[in-house]
Amino acid sequence: MSTTTVSGLWKKLAGKLSRSNSSPHRPTIIPRDDHCVSRRLISDGALKVIQRLNQAGHEAYLVGGGVRDILLGGEPKDFDVATDATPEQIRGLFRNSRIIGRRFRIVHVRFGREVIEVTTFRGNHDAAPVHSNPKGKQSARNESGMLLRDNVYGSIDEDAARRDLSINALYYSSRDFAIYDFVGGIDDLNRRLIRVIGDPETRYREDPVRMLRVVRFAAKLDFDIEAHTEAPLRQLAPLLEDIAAARMFDEVLKLFMGGRALQTYALMQRYGLFAPLFPATQRLLDEECPETVELIHQGLANTDARIAEGKPVTPAFLYAVLLWPVVKKLHKEQLADGVPPIPALHQAAERCLHKQQQRVAIPKRFSLPMRDIWELQLRFERQSGKRAEQLVEHRYFRAGYDFLLLREQSGEIGEQLSQWWQAFYEAQPDTRSNMQQHSESQEERPRRPRRRRRGPRNKG
Ligand code: ATP
Ligand code: MG
Repeated sequence: MSTTTVSGLWKKLAGKLSRSNSSPHRPTIIPRDDHCVSRRLISDGALKVIQRLNQAGHEAYLVGGGVRDILLGGEPKDFDVATDATPEQIRGLFRNSRIIGRRFRIVHVRFGREVIEVTTFRGNHDAAPVHSNPKGKQSARNESGMLLRDNVYGSIDEDAARRDLSINALYYSSRDFAIYDFVGGIDDLNRRLIRVIGDPETRYREDPVRMLRVVRFAAKLDFDIEAHTEAPLRQLAPLLEDIAAARMFDEVLKLFMGGRALQTYALMQRYGLFAPLFPATQRLLDEECPETVELIHQGLANTDARIAEGKPVTPAFLYAVLLWPVVKKLHKEQLADGVPPIPALHQAAERCLHKQQQRVAIPKRFSLPMRDIWELQLRFERQSGKRAEQLVEHRYFRAGYDFLLLREQSGEIGEQLSQWWQAFYEAQPDTRSNMQQHSESQEERPRRPRRRRRGPRNKG
């Protein structure tokens, strides 16, 4: 269904339906003939989960991105199910399932490569019944209002009120095939508005990641951010500093690897949401060094372009881009202290990553290739002898080379280096050895200013 059809749908329904956004208990019900969500567009896994829960006597609905994206004519990335069954009851119904999360317990039901996320209806924390809180631990907040645990269960309308955005709180039932809208989500889809459910400040304080979700969906869907939703963003952005670094890693990937990284980044900068995630990079951006600004811009643009072409993108490359300006600065400092280039780079990378891990935990499987990509930048400067042959065989040669191109595109370095490596990479063995000899003889001549080295030469 296209957005125009959503718009048409709403016009058609506006007069017909009794809406009651002020009362969370009476949803707007959109009957099957008046919307485009159908079983055909829902994955078999999600349908199986809903049907089995229903057969066991539970309520179960498709919710979140699955409903939102189908209504917008897109293809959902994954399917989420909401139910009144508890995690243990869900677990009992699906052999292929496991309970994950502590702060927010959910069940993952696996069908081959597909994972359906099943959540139990969340309830109101203030009215948390004692039975759902036997050890007093189902709901917990810190002093700034952040929810440390959100496992109080409730009814569907309470669940809707506890979701992040109105457009993410539409429930599709495979019993009557209707959509249930408790919070004006259809209206906002139609007006192309990102609106936080409830009082935005309270909701951001409960979970600051919701601020990132606001900009992510605004960029992804090309929606406007509703005024009340927008107002507290800049002031509350620093709350993101309190989020666990491990959770932040996943969030950053969703922000920058969803195909709309540039728009997302622009919104993050507008509302001060980038600084708490990458404080050292932000400090350099604030110095308005054009190379830094351009590198990040170009890196994100390239990521978007690759995703649009269906090419793979790796988190290591993305993080290598976001942190390169910091590594470069620290590297310069090390060189000034007389440390040789390659060890200086290792130390710069170490210091940068150590600091960064406090905000965003980058797993080793990504931080190791990141270090390699950075180190390759130095090693590319030596085109002589066997080194060039060895570099071409390097595991991350391709990524390192792409990174070199990016530095070139952003004006950090000239074009000669990447051209030489491109030619060397494509050359036949005999041509390669000529090229090596040529660069060896060039290396004996006085160096070009760009390749000036400090300290003794190092066998990298
Ligand atoms: P997509 O999967 O396409 O990124 P989504 O909206 O399905 O988008 P998920 O992260 O899969 O996003 O979350 C599923 C649903 O859970 C959301 O649509 C929303 O209703 C709810 N949700 C997710 N994160 C939060 C949060 N931090 N606070 C409140 N509700 C949330
Ligand atoms: Mg989802």
